[in-house]
Amino acid sequence: EAKARGKNTYHFFSQDLNDAAKEKLLIETQLREAIREHQFVLFYQPKIDIRDQRIVGYEALLRWIRPDGSMIPPLRFIPVAESTGLIVEIGEWVIWEACRFISRQQSKGHDVTIAVNLSARQFTDQNLAAMVERILIRTCAKPQSLTFEITESMLMGDTDAAIAQLNELKNLGVALSIDDFGTGYSSLSYLKRFPVDELKIDRSFVKDIPEDTNDMDIVAAIIAMAQKMNLRVVAEGVETPEQIDFLNNNACYLVQGYFFSMPRAEQELFHLNYQPLVHPTHV
Ligand code: C2E
Ligand code: MG
Ligand code: MG
Ligand code: MG
Repeated sequence: EAKARGKNTYHFFSQDLNDAAKEKLLIETQLREAIREHQFVLFYQPKIDIRDQRIVGYEALLRWIRPDGSMIPPLRFIPVAESTGLIVEIGEWVIWEACRFISRQQSKGHDVTIAVNLSARQFTDQNLAAMVERILIRTCAKPQSLTFEITESMLMGDTDAAIAQLNELKNLGVALSIDDFGTGYSSLSYLKRFPVDELKIDRSFVKDIPEDTNDMDIVAAIIAMAQKMNLRVVAEGVETPEQIDFLNNNACYLVQGYFFSMPRAEQELFHLNYQPLVHPTHV
């Protein structure tokens, strides 16, 4: 009886795996098609300085728009792109597109800063810095206008290789940011070894402010630590005035989140002219 049930369980389990494998294969096939058919676009979410409510830059966020108009969020396809290696090609396109955006804005007189997310596979690519350099040269985008976001987990593993890669990128003149900060396990002394410019506090620590005093302590500690280490600090996923008050009181002035703006397509960035975002009537 127990054996039969065990067998059944096994059967269902393997069926699930099978479905997951099928879904992955389907996404992989569709991703190849998406690359060929140019179904990717970048959306941009502003990063705001809450002291004057001005935009200090944007994060580029990848969107996959299917021919039927449906939009597939990155968390559904980036893991597949990563595990199949397709992320390298897609990621290269993202860097080109972000640099072309910078260059278009530069030619209109706007000095815009764009942050681009890197995946683990891209970050360990020996040719990454050379590729970025080529793109910067070809697009005439200023290196200071480009930031790369990497996660803590990419810095673990082979630390020396990671430091070498970060230095190669830094030597191009781009800025480096640690995304989703607090979700990994970097210690203070560990962090000090990496030539980064910025920490982005993960949204999971921000979302329950001001109810969760534990999270508030963590956020305050990260801000204090960033200041001691001379790192810029940005809070992700800011949605409420209470969260802004808390961050302001703790001297974290850079924020991203739906409170100010969702990520938008380039043609919908009405605030690209760097006017104050929150009180447009005052301009
Ligand atoms: P991330 O880099 O941490 O980006 C922040 C995510 O939080 C974005 O989700 C953004 O839309 C969302 N977000 C921003 N403000 C708020 C808010 O106030 N509330 C809530 N609930 N969410 C907010 P998105 O665009 O779905 O991207 C998810 C993740 O996919 C990104 O997390 C990043 O890890 C990855 N990703 C996106 N674009 C790229 C890319 O071009 N390359 C790579 N390798 N990864 C990317
Ligand atoms: Mg990011
Ligand atoms: Mg993030
Ligand atoms: Mg995050």
